[in-house]
Amino acid sequence: MGKLRIMVVEDESILRMDIKEMLIEAGYHVVAEANSGDKAIELAALHRPDLIVMDIKMPRMNGIKASRIIYQAYQIPVLLLTAYSERDLVEEAKNAHILGYLVKPVSERDLIPAVEIALAQASRLKTMANDIKKMEEKIEDQKLIQRAKGILMEVYQVSEEQAFKILRSYSMNNGKSMKVVADSIIIHRRLETDVTAV
Ligand SMILES: [Mg+2]
Repeated sequence: MGKLRIMVVEDESILRMDIKEMLIEAGYHVVAEANSGDKAIELAALHRPDLIVMDIKMPRMNGIKASRIIYQAYQIPVLLLTAYSERDLVEEAKNAHILGYLVKPVSERDLIPAVEIALAQASRLKTMANDIKKMEEKIEDQKLIQRAKGILMEVYQVSEEQAFKILRSYSMNNGKSMKVVADSIIIHRRLETDVTAV
């Protein structure tokens, strides 16, 4: 695996440089830097980093709003930087897919573990989202197979078990998935119905 790619967004340039150096020293690749939320959105689109370390209070657009927009568009997780006085903003961050926040001043001892945890959590969330997607696809496939079975039962006057066997053997003999075979059966049936209606 290549170096993990991080973007740093902070309007105080000295702090931004400090954070960048800490990250580089820890072996991360800092792919972009920004000093405002709107610039962060633009650069997130361009560089697609693995993680964004982002300040909350910045001119024009704050870090929470930018995090929300970036997450919705590109699913990039964010680790927020906040001053102690901004606790109320942290509440607001709860629904912006923030993977954690660090209270300033930021030390290397705090930053690096927080980044590691955020990255691990992001990858877990990604795996989970993929699993859910696969499960949903499976359920969709099952629905199609179920419908195709029903068509076979009706057309050939066979039992459900026989219909399933027909589907499965056709699928195996032709090197096509059950879903693809089911799809063709459904489309064929629909076509037949349409033609009859003409
Ligand atoms: Mg600031």
